Amino acid sequence: MIYFDNNATTCIAPEVFDAMHPYLTASYGNPSSAYGFGSEISRVVEEARASVAALLGSSADEIVFTSCGTESDNWAILGTLKARPEKKHIITTRVEHDAVRKLCEGLEKDGYRITWLDVDEAGAIDLDQLRVGLSEQTAVVSVMLANNETGVLFPVDEIAGVVKEHSDALFHVDGVNAVGKIPVDLASTAIDLFSVSAHKFYGPKGVGALYIRDGVELPQLFTGGGQERGRRPGTEAVHQIAGIGAAAEFVKDMSPMAKIRELRERLESNILNTIPNSRLNGTADISKRLPNASNISFENTNGEMIVAKLDADGVCVSTGSACNAQDHTASPVLQAMNVPYAYAMGAIRFSLGRFNTAAEVDQVTEILLPEIVAGLRKLAG
Ligand code: PLP
Repeated sequence: MIYFDNNATTCIAPEVFDAMHPYLTASYGNPSSAYGFGSEISRVVEEARASVAALLGSSADEIVFTSCGTESDNWAILGTLKARPEKKHIITTRVEHDAVRKLCEGLEKDGYRITWLDVDEAGAIDLDQLRVGLSEQTAVVSVMLANNETGVLFPVDEIAGVVKEHSDALFHVDGVNAVGKIPVDLASTAIDLFSVSAHKFYGPKGVGALYIRDGVELPQLFTGGGQERGRRPGTEAVHQIAGIGAAAEFVKDMSPMAKIRELRERLESNILNTIPNSRLNGTADISKRLPNASNISFENTNGEMIVAKLDADGVCVSTGSACNAQDHTASPVLQAMNVPYAYAMGAIRFSLGRFNTAAEVDQVTEILLPEIVAGLRKLAG
């Protein structure tokens, strides 16, 4: 199998698995228990918190464990609205992950006013639109750091500056697809809330974290016990938390990203130079996108059929999102970027990871893909 879908999820690194194993077997105590067999396990939770904090450049007290990136995103936005009931306005972008976009669509139906920031063809937002949109009614601004479909990075430091200069809104960043791929240093930013998910950086599925900047009041979403210092009830998923901690340790060395970037460049140039009418979606500027991902469209093809044919050859890629062949609608992210329909329907996201090789890139881009694309175009006539 060739796995080029690392923005969807990653494998669990062997050292991460080893770190989790004891808490799935012999050391199964509850960290809240009074006896040592349980309470000693709370040390594991605190070590993991320190590792995640170090990866994000925050202090350990600012990290709360959650069940996933989706929970972190929901908590950041809904918690802010709960804390500021008088403010009924949210600003976000048209290219957010469903965890933010669909939440905000629902809030819009419930009577909140949402300002949806547009993006240009390169996937960039216009800071003036943000500036104009901010008001004293704005409770929260929520944008992603790295787009899961295109890898385009939003300039979150600059956005934070605008938000703080023109409002007292809280600033939430969905960092789920960025962490482990690019350095993050929250201490040097004005970001208030930052979402993380372990399975995007070689940790297990079903565990995430929310960074809550020191001094930010965020009411809890759930009601229950006093875990996570009263911020997020529920018995700690110790094995998962050990996993996210070990994953943070695993990715803190960013040096492998140079090799991944080289592989990505190889993949992109192989495809764009050899397959006619293929185009890169998003910016070509490598400083403005993730080093591991390319979203490439093949005109007059169908992304889902390419995915199925590559799957039959043992290659995992994705269309990037709910691009829907049945109702002939393209991904909302590509639509927001004004990608022409004939290209948007034939978009594929390739996202590389730390275990990919040049031989895999060549196999897909030189042997399998050109034939698949040519075959589909022939069928389409
Ligand atoms: N935000 C972004 C940008 C994502 O890419 C994802 C997952 O694809 C999520 C949020 C949701 O994370 P999780 O799968 O941990 O709920």
